[in-house]
Amino acid sequence: MNKVILRKTEEIENWRRNINSEINFIPTMGNLHNGHIKLISTAKNDNSNVNLVSIFINPLQFDNKLDLEHYPKTIDDDIKISFSNGADVIFIPNNEDIYPPNKNIKLLKAPIDLSSALCGSNRIGHFDGVCTVVYRLINLIKPKNLYLGEKDWQQLLILKNLILRKKLNVAIKSIPTQRDFDGIPLSSRNVHLSKNERELIRFFSSELLKAKKNFQQEKRINLDEIIKKLSAKKISIEYLEHLHPHTLQKARLEDNISLLAGAIRCGETRLIDHVFLMKRRPIIAIDGPAGSGKSTVTKLIAKKLKLLYLDTGAMYRALSWLMIKESIDYKKEKKLQNILKDISIVFKSNTNSHQEVYINNYCVTEEIRSQKISSIVSKISSIKEVRNFLVEEQRKIGESGGLVAEGRDIGTTVFPHAELKIFLTASIDERAKRRQSDNNSKDSQEIDLNTLKELIKKRDFEDSNREISPLTKANDAIEIITDGYTINEVVNKIIDLYNDKIPKETEIK
Ligand code: C5P
Repeated sequence: MNKVILRKTEEIENWRRNINSEINFIPTMGNLHNGHIKLISTAKNDNSNVNLVSIFINPLQFDNKLDLEHYPKTIDDDIKISFSNGADVIFIPNNEDIYPPNKNIKLLKAPIDLSSALCGSNRIGHFDGVCTVVYRLINLIKPKNLYLGEKDWQQLLILKNLILRKKLNVAIKSIPTQRDFDGIPLSSRNVHLSKNERELIRFFSSELLKAKKNFQQEKRINLDEIIKKLSAKKISIEYLEHLHPHTLQKARLEDNISLLAGAIRCGETRLIDHVFLMKRRPIIAIDGPAGSGKSTVTKLIAKKLKLLYLDTGAMYRALSWLMIKESIDYKKEKKLQNILKDISIVFKSNTNSHQEVYINNYCVTEEIRSQKISSIVSKISSIKEVRNFLVEEQRKIGESGGLVAEGRDIGTTVFPHAELKIFLTASIDERAKRRQSDNNSKDSQEIDLNTLKELIKKRDFEDSNREISPLTKANDAIEIITDGYTINEVVNKIIDLYNDKIPKETEIK
C-alpha cells in the first residue's frame, strides 16, 4: 500500500470510504519514541490490517496552558518514524478539523469512579478531553483495533469503558510500558528533564520495581516505607497508591493482581509510573458439561498463552481406571482414604508434546477415554474423599498459577479466585456429534448418536446433581455457547477476554 498522509477530515472520510481493509489505529500526540514504535510495530505484526497513526496534540486534555505550549513538536521526525516502522497512513489534523467551530462537537465526560482516582484529582478535565478526542477520532477512522500503551493504565481503563459505554465495535490491544536504558518509562515529557531530575525518577521507578519483587516473596506491601525512602531523596510525591487494577478502588487482600501506581513532580515536569503486584501468575478456569469442547479449546489456549494445561477430568478418569483395575470397593470409605494416600497422578509431555496421564506409574492416557470409564467416572467423582483428594492435588499444581484448568468445579471450588472463568457449553445435539467424531474417545465413535445423547445426558445429570461441588456456572463466569462457532473463534474470544483482564506487563519477569 502507498504511504499516505491525510490532514483534513474530508480527506480521511473519503479515504475511509474507499478502502475495504480493516484498520489498526495508533493514536499519538507526536514526539514519537520507542514506546510509540512498539505500538506501531505490534500493530503491523498482529495482522494484515492497514496501520493508521494519528498525530494530534489535543488541547482539551491539557489542564495547564504552559504544558501545552511546551509539549515537544517534532512532526517531520514523527512522519519518518511512523512510516519506517509500519504505518501505512498518517493522519495529522489540526484543531479546526477535530473541533470544527460550526459542528459543535459534543464534549464527553469520563466516568467519575475511574477518572477521579490517581491522576484525576490533580488533572481536572484531562480524561474528559481524552475521551472526547478518542471518540471523535474513532468515529472518523472506524478502526477494528485500537493500540494503546499500558504506561497510561488509567487512561487505558477509561478508554475501555468508553468503548463499552458507546458500544463501539473496536478491540483495544495493549502493550507493556516501554522503559529507557535506566529503567524510567519512556515519555515525550522526558526531554524536559535535567540530569538531576532524571536521577530522581530513576530512583522512583527502581523503588516500584523493588516493591514488585518483594511482593512476589512476601505477598505484602508497605506503602509508608516506600514513601519514606522517596521523601528522604526529597522527591515530591503527588500520590502513591495500591489499588485494584480495574476498579481503581483500594486493593483487597484477595486480589491476586493489584496496581501500585505513583506520580511525582520533578521541577516543572510531572511523571507517572506503576507496577503490577502479583501473588501468583494468572489462572483461567474453564468449566462445562461433557462434549462442550473444553479439552480442545483449553489445550489451544494453553499453547497460545504459554500456560500449563490442567485436565482435571483426566484425574477423575485415571482414578476410576485404577479402582476398576485393582477392584477397589469405592463404597468402603475408610479404606478409600488409606488407598488415596498412596496414589500419585502426574502429567508428562511425550516426545510429540502431547500430555500423557500416569497413575501410580501406569500410563493411562488412552484407556481412560473408554466408554467403560465414562460410564462410572461420575459416580466416583461424587465421592467426598475422592473430591477432597483431587481438589487438593489440583490446587498444588496451580499454586504458583500460570495455568488454564478445565473441569466441572474449577471456577466454583478448585480456583475460586481465578482471574478468568469461562462456562463453556453447547446444545446436547452438538455435544453428542462432537463426541462421536472425537478421535480421543474411540468407542464413542461406535455408539449411535441417540444412545450417545442419552449417555451424555445421564452424565450431565449426575455431574450437576451430586452433593459436593456439582457442575454449575460460577457467578462470575462468562458463559459461551459454542453451537455454530468454530474452535478458533471460541479460542480467540477467550484469549481476548484474558487479554482484557490481564495486563500485558504481568508477563514480564
Ligand atoms: O471432562 P471429562 O469428561 O474428562 O470428565 C470426566 C468426569 O470427571 C466428569 O463427567 C465428572 O464426573 C468428573 N469431573 C469432576 N470434576 C472435574 C472434572 C471432571 O467431577 N473438575
